[in-house]
Amino acid sequence: MTAAPAAAGPAGLNLGQAIAQARALGLDRLDAQWLLGHLLQRPRSWLIAHDDAKLAADQAQGYAALCQRRADGEPLAYLVGESEFHGLALGVTPDVLIPRPDTETLVDWALALLTQDGQRAPRVLDLGTGSGAIALAVAYRHPSARVTATDISDAALTVARTNAERLGLTLDWRRGSWWQALPAHLEFDMVLSNPPYIAADDPHLPALRHEPLLALSPGGDGLGALRQIIAGAGAHLAPNAWLLLEHGWDQAEAVARMLQSAGLEQIATRPDIAGRLRCTSGRQRSAS
Ligand code: GLN
Repeated sequence: MTAAPAAAGPAGLNLGQAIAQARALGLDRLDAQWLLGHLLQRPRSWLIAHDDAKLAADQAQGYAALCQRRADGEPLAYLVGESEFHGLALGVTPDVLIPRPDTETLVDWALALLTQDGQRAPRVLDLGTGSGAIALAVAYRHPSARVTATDISDAALTVARTNAERLGLTLDWRRGSWWQALPAHLEFDMVLSNPPYIAADDPHLPALRHEPLLALSPGGDGLGALRQIIAGAGAHLAPNAWLLLEHGWDQAEAVARMLQSAGLEQIATRPDIAGRLRCTSGRQRSAS
């Protein structure tokens, strides 16, 4: 019998052959290894050391199915159910946006301001938290902060709460659309948000079809959610409180103008890791 095991179907494949099949579907090596490691619950180093270990038939079938989904464009993070943000491992499902490294700019800026202000137990709010990425990174890195996080989606809040439990963090979770999630006069020392900001006709939107549209685009010119957040901020920003917003690469000027019209001061913009203007801040006046 000289037939190669692969000729008889997926059963009997060894790990090296399985990876080769994934590569033939167009997957890059790292994705192929991630998916196999996820399926077998083994680290990459183990896969590499056990190149000739055989897959059981159901494992081979499961792996082929995962690889096909990846080849069809499903993000790796959804297939393995996990993503990394600001050094934290976060669970993700298709109910939440996959956290982007660009958003670490917002978190780094927030952490620097919290340290600079030196306020004891600052009240921090993350509007539209999704997986909880921003809120959890701030809570983890600035343990004295009292962090509240909102989302309109129950499913997203479930993902975020589960992430908080895994990290041993306690946050105040609220469901609702932007400010409606909160009592009218609840004040914060810092408000953060990475709202949906992609314009309805943005040519990049179709490529993001696996992620929740609710988290990506408010429709129209893409500024609708940012407008709502800025319009309602006055009632919830304590004196000297910061409002830090992520936005599209071409929206910095519009956001700065809106912050100015809302009466905020110290308006500043920061680039993301690709050098695009990605976050803009404003500060509430001090109490006079
Ligand atoms: N930065 C994300 C992207 O361009 C979009 C996130 C968002 O709309 N808040 O893929």
